[in-house]
Amino acid sequence: MSNYVEMWKNLGMDLESHDLLCQVLPTAVGDVFLTQENRPKCMDFWDTVIAEVHGIRPAELIEAQKEGRKVFGTFCVYVPDEVVIACNGIVTGLCGGSQFWVPGGEAVLPKATCPLVKASVGARLGRTCPFFRIADMYVGETTCDAKKKAYEILGKDVPMYVMDVPQMKREKDILKWKDEIAAFAKKVEEFTGNTLTAEKLAEAIKTVNEKRKALARVYNCRKSECLPISGRDALLMMQIAFFDDPARCAQMCNRLADELEQRIKDGVSVAPAGAKRILVTGTPLAVPNWKLHNIIETSGGVVVCEEMCTGTRYFENLVDESKTTLDEQFMALSQRYMKNNCACFTPNEGRIEDILRLVKEYKADGVIDCSLKFCCLYDVEKYSVSNVLKDAGVPVLSLETDYEDADSEQLRTRIGAFIEMIDD
Ligand code: SF4
Ligand code: SF4
Repeated sequence: MSNYVEMWKNLGMDLESHDLLCQVLPTAVGDVFLTQENRPKCMDFWDTVIAEVHGIRPAELIEAQKEGRKVFGTFCVYVPDEVVIACNGIVTGLCGGSQFWVPGGEAVLPKATCPLVKASVGARLGRTCPFFRIADMYVGETTCDAKKKAYEILGKDVPMYVMDVPQMKREKDILKWKDEIAAFAKKVEEFTGNTLTAEKLAEAIKTVNEKRKALARVYNCRKSECLPISGRDALLMMQIAFFDDPARCAQMCNRLADELEQRIKDGVSVAPAGAKRILVTGTPLAVPNWKLHNIIETSGGVVVCEEMCTGTRYFENLVDESKTTLDEQFMALSQRYMKNNCACFTPNEGRIEDILRLVKEYKADGVIDCSLKFCCLYDVEKYSVSNVLKDAGVPVLSLETDYEDADSEQLRTRIGAFIEMIDD
């Protein structure tokens, strides 16, 4: 990624520290992805993007800014991209998934904070992530306490807009989220200087729906007995979807889906004989957090589905495209986004129903429910998840981890034992 030094310098990044980060990434990519055999040819695109993750897309964003477009950095799948896109803005994900950034976060946050929040704050304060430097505005949301407080720190020197996510899913909560979306739209209009019209919003809704459909096509291929793509590759595709241009993302995912559908017809599988099909659920896996998938897929399992925000929650449920006024469209957006089942909601039975449904759809042999350390919400919800799965006769393993390698061998032992005890 050496061609981008001038760009990083102009972004005010700490080049010395950033060099250290750039040194570890290629090894991680090589170990996790390039050691796999028989990968789909179309993964070349994502290999290039991840190899140049701090170069290619940041350079595009900077070019767009020169044309007067604004970049919005987000941290949660509840923020409606459609509103930003309709005002000619660009959305980029900002969640941090690397241990590299955690110490920087711990310098200002309690150690007992989830690594995703610590890494996000560390990436910003340490000036080693171009996306955090480029974003003109951060958009937070009131999903968990750690994030809410972190937004107060992140918002010190970048405009920060926080959306108030309801914690229940009653009719009045859906109306409240609709009002929040309308208020956000006003803010985006002011910030971009562009007026939101129903026509532009309809177009943006269609664009994001097309991206969701393309991601769903790839996931559908993972339901096949003949598994044409590994969990690691599918996860990489999903993680990059949070950063990429939505139309290009749809195009590349459709191209990958074409290849995967052909592989299924030709009987080309990436799963070793006897590999157990695992559904993973829990807290999101922000790039470059590939630890869990890598351990599962080198311990006799293959990951066939992720019931998480870096997974099915990101693309399931389309926004109704038939609405023609802004008011109706805000409602349609609210209805779609409120179908997301985050553990910040109570009750959150929809998530458990989804896990049971997805186990059947993806023919999973077992479920691994994994949360990030100090994520109270997902940790507490494990109790209900494992009880329901046990009652349904689905093998389940509950885990907790962070971004460090220290527990990798312990995880490998537990995951290996779990996979071995799953009946053939
Ligand atoms: S887990 Fe909850 S807070 Fe995190 S991205 Fe998903 S919806 Fe947002
Ligand atoms: S993983 Fe849990 S604690 Fe961390 S940001 Fe997400 S909801 Fe909050």
